[in-house]
Amino acid sequence: IFISFEGIDGSGKSTQARLLADALRASGHGVTLTREPGGSAGAEEIRRLVLEGATDRWSAETEILLFTAARRDHVEKTIRPALARGDVVITDRFADSTRIFQGITRGDLSATVDTLHDLMIGVEPDLTLLVDLDPVQGLARATARAGAEMRFEDMGLAFQTRARAGFLALAARHARFRVIDGARSPDAVAADVLTQALTVIGA
Ligand code: C5P
Repeated sequence: IFISFEGIDGSGKSTQARLLADALRASGHGVTLTREPGGSAGAEEIRRLVLEGATDRWSAETEILLFTAARRDHVEKTIRPALARGDVVITDRFADSTRIFQGITRGDLSATVDTLHDLMIGVEPDLTLLVDLDPVQGLARATARAGAEMRFEDMGLAFQTRARAGFLALAARHARFRVIDGARSPDAVAADVLTQALTVIGA
């Protein structure tokens, strides 16, 4: 079973991915918790290339290629082997993040993202949990967090607002999505997340 978490910066998705992994492990499931960009040695190198430079270091087109390369390595080295072992794979971000951050926030490159995805990645999660939050709250949370990697902080609220709307529109189009209200306490969100995860994992 393959589960992804998505959401804008500061939505709480990373905390929720960790809490879900803990809960499933406690009930005896094998779990691989991973993240993007990154999740394999090669993909973590590409993460540094993208996140350490200035936001405008790469064009959106080049970023699509870099993120797709990173994802290909992540799928080959981490996700497929874990699924083959029978683990529940939980990833903090997957292809939907590229559909939003590279695909729609700086012009419409959706077709490019989707074509490369079909060609090089293919796989989609069984369940995608979109942790939805008002960007004002997301920005406040992400800014408060020490060491947070916020690429688009300088682009501000308008950028995160476009990203949020993009995620919600994607969620409306694909049955694998569940929209989780991220404005509640972490425990309340986690309970909701676990309920949704168990609908695809079974027991
Ligand atoms: O999810 P995480 O906080 O680790 O992401 C790090 C940064 O990379 C965030 O600012 C996120 O918006 C950005 N990102 C991106 N394109 C992606 C995935 C993440 O620009 N495809």
